[in-house]
Amino acid sequence: MYDIAIIGGGPAGATAARYLSKKGQNVCLVDREHFPRNKPCGGGFSYGMIEEFPWLKETAKEFLQGICRIGVMHSPNGRITLKSRIDMAVALRTDFDNAIFQAAVDEGTNVMCGQRVKSVSFPDDSVKVSTYSVCSLLVLS
Ligand SMILES: Cc1cc2nc3c(=O)[nH]c(=O)nc-3n(C[C@H](O)[C@H](O)[C@H](O)COP(=O)(O)OP(=O)(O)OC[C@H]3O[C@@H](n4cnc5c(N)ncnc54)[C@H](O)[C@@H]3O)c2cc1C
Repeated sequence: MYDIAIIGGGPAGATAARYLSKKGQNVCLVDREHFPRNKPCGGGFSYGMIEEFPWLKETAKEFLQGICRIGVMHSPNGRITLKSRIDMAVALRTDFDNAIFQAAVDEGTNVMCGQRVKSVSFPDDSVKVSTYSVCSLLVLS
């Protein structure tokens, strides 16, 4: 039994799980993959994000590959080129997502990895999350 179930342990789910666990909620974070897991992505994000989420600063050296200072865009026909100063951080999603996932675990989030969610139902006054394996978890409403 948990207060909250979050399906998907990517940056969105793991960040929500971290905050809710920190607030004292009994959270279960479910993902079909095992972490660290990879994710197709360019891996670019604004460095300002780290200022906005200061708790990420502590582990930034684990996922930050570098900072791009100049951005160049070419039009499909190659006739137009835009060049500008940017501050884009670059990370491998395997490391970035795992750092956020671990931050949730460090705040006490319970995790169920390798469990693909099949359905969510609402029997009586509860929420039931069923996975493709035999297990299911009930969340209090
Ligand atoms: C090719 C590509 C390039 C990109 N490049 C950039 C970029 O450079 N910069 C940028 O900021 N964004 C980029 N993005 C977007 C970025 O990847 C997403 O915005 C981001 O991953 C969304 O985070 P999320 O936590 O919502 O979802 P996700 O990171 O997708 O996480 C969802 C999680 O849910 C789990 N899951 C899904 N279904 C189930 C299920 N039924 N049961 C259990 N678990 C489940 C998955 O395993 C996954 O771990 C790119 C995306 C793509 C596809």
